Amino acid sequence: MSQSSTPNPTVIARETLKQMALRRLVPTPDHYEAIYHEIAGTPEGERLHPMLREVFTLLAASQNRNAPEFERQQNQLKRLAGSEKWTDFSELLLKTAQTMGSQSELTRSWAELIRELILQWDLRNPVYTPSRKQDSLEKVLINFGGNGAELNDKLAALVKAWSEGASEQRTDYGSLVDPAVSDSISDSASAPQTTTSLQGSPAPADYTSWANALASTLDIGVRARLAHTPDLQAEAASLAREAGTIVDAAGFDKMLPRLRKFWLRLELQNDQEQRLCDALMNLLRLLTDNMAEIVIEDDWVRGQIAVVQQIMAQPLDMRVLYDAEAGLKEVLFKQSQLKHTLVEAQEALKQMLASFIDRLGVMSQSTDRYHDRIAGYAGQIEKAKDLASIREVMEGLLQDTRSMQLDVQRSRDELNDARRQADEAHNRVVELEQQLSELSHRVREDQLTGALNRRGMEEMMDTEMARASRNGKPLSLALLDIDNFKKLNDSKGHGAGDDALKHLVGVIKSIIRPMDSVARYGGEEFVLVMPETDTANAVIAMQRVQRELTKRFFLHNNEKLLITFSAGVTEIETGDTPQAVLERADHAMYLAKRGGKNRVEVYTHPGS
Ligand code: GH3
Ligand code: MG
Ligand code: MG
Repeated sequence: MSQSSTPNPTVIARETLKQMALRRLVPTPDHYEAIYHEIAGTPEGERLHPMLREVFTLLAASQNRNAPEFERQQNQLKRLAGSEKWTDFSELLLKTAQTMGSQSELTRSWAELIRELILQWDLRNPVYTPSRKQDSLEKVLINFGGNGAELNDKLAALVKAWSEGASEQRTDYGSLVDPAVSDSISDSASAPQTTTSLQGSPAPADYTSWANALASTLDIGVRARLAHTPDLQAEAASLAREAGTIVDAAGFDKMLPRLRKFWLRLELQNDQEQRLCDALMNLLRLLTDNMAEIVIEDDWVRGQIAVVQQIMAQPLDMRVLYDAEAGLKEVLFKQSQLKHTLVEAQEALKQMLASFIDRLGVMSQSTDRYHDRIAGYAGQIEKAKDLASIREVMEGLLQDTRSMQLDVQRSRDELNDARRQADEAHNRVVELEQQLSELSHRVREDQLTGALNRRGMEEMMDTEMARASRNGKPLSLALLDIDNFKKLNDSKGHGAGDDALKHLVGVIKSIIRPMDSVARYGGEEFVLVMPETDTANAVIAMQRVQRELTKRFFLHNNEKLLITFSAGVTEIETGDTPQAVLERADHAMYLAKRGGKNRVEVYTHPGS
């Protein structure tokens, strides 16, 4: 029977007495109490003698309830009290009191401990780097986080170790530290050299620098690039943190599976991004191709589309994009201004023409009218019998002729005026169209150096190659690449690099013949196209440029800098394509680089 639902003490007391009678128990206070609790369903802990209950309350208050040792002792005490084994009870109570005494020495107040922990965490420490501190702390938290008393112990030991590590004193705190933690603590606390000489294994410092390098690579190299995939980015950050805490080979082993999983995901992601990039480029290509189709008549729009197409033809490079954007913006701005004026001028011309036609119509109408009138007068004159009627007709005719003359005069003036205005508008249109066409040509020019750009070069090569095949004269091409340009950029700055490019083009332009052309092929690579020139003469021309560069130094902040280049020369052959010519020149240029730079090489066919 369950009496826990009987709340009234009077009812319980009555039932207790009834049960005692039924069970024929001797009516002692103990029996009464036992039956009473049984009926009331009093929980085990509360059935204790009030004094014992007081003892347990005190114990609980003075100890950490979470300590399993204490809990075990307390339960045992309750059991002993329950079975009234008082000797055992008092012995255990004594023992509990003793452990309590010793433990309270060790278990430090949390507030004090945390304060110390923060202090030691922030203190610079030659033995415990922040990442090692983090590692040890994490281990302690993982292993003992579920147990307040032990956590308190281990944290205290950790703080102690850190503070001693800071002063380079090592004491034996091993007994306080769990094996799970003592590894990392003793590892990091011992001087690296000592470990090497004693164990003959790689010094921890080696692992640490590798681990730090790995952490930096993950953080700077990988995490920073994953802005579009937050979960991968978070994983990279977490891996970087983990890598930063590695101090031994085991640490690397532990991290490896996670790292492997990560780079598999990364590979997948790369693949996706590449495909996205390709798809976008294809879309853009499609768009520009279609635009070029639609606006085939519009030279200036085609010029701009050509720039975009040219950019898409080369590997995407921020610098190229910036350059193209800047150039395009400038041209776009000017063109939009011109286009506006052009539209206005065209509108004016149209109006002129409209009024011209209008006037023509009016004129032919009025002449028709006069024509009829004159025919009428002619009839009247024929029929006229007397002078008076002839005079009448003559007067009418004279009147009409006079006003007709006035009409014609006015019309002619108006017509002349209209024609003049139309001529003016037409001239303005022609002028503006010419300006537009010039701007469109500038789209064929490299913004920085004034050399032809890729598009200009392609057009020029098409023209020159067609001409050479018509007139049967040789045509040579040289591809030159500035030597060690990166070094110049790195040591003198990008601005100096840009100036050097301008300087080089200036020197080249001053040397070459008017029929030759120079184009910027890539960053610091230029192409020279020399009509009516064979390879031998092309080499001489290139050497002239080299010589000129040694005479006309590039001046940067009053410092004379010598620019040298390596060049490859080739001559066009029958059935050649611009692509093939450039490839041969590039090959020869590569040989010039390999041969020690600052030289000119001629392409020779393999086996010849
Ligand atoms: P090498 O002698 O082998 O040709 O060495 P290099 O340093 O000239 O060759 P590399 O191709 O490694 O470097 C070319 C550099 O040219 C890299 C790039 O930063 C720089 N560059 C490309 N375009 C421009 C530009 O418009 N302005 C400047 N200042 N630098 C550029
Ligand atoms: Mg280069
Ligand atoms: Mg170079």
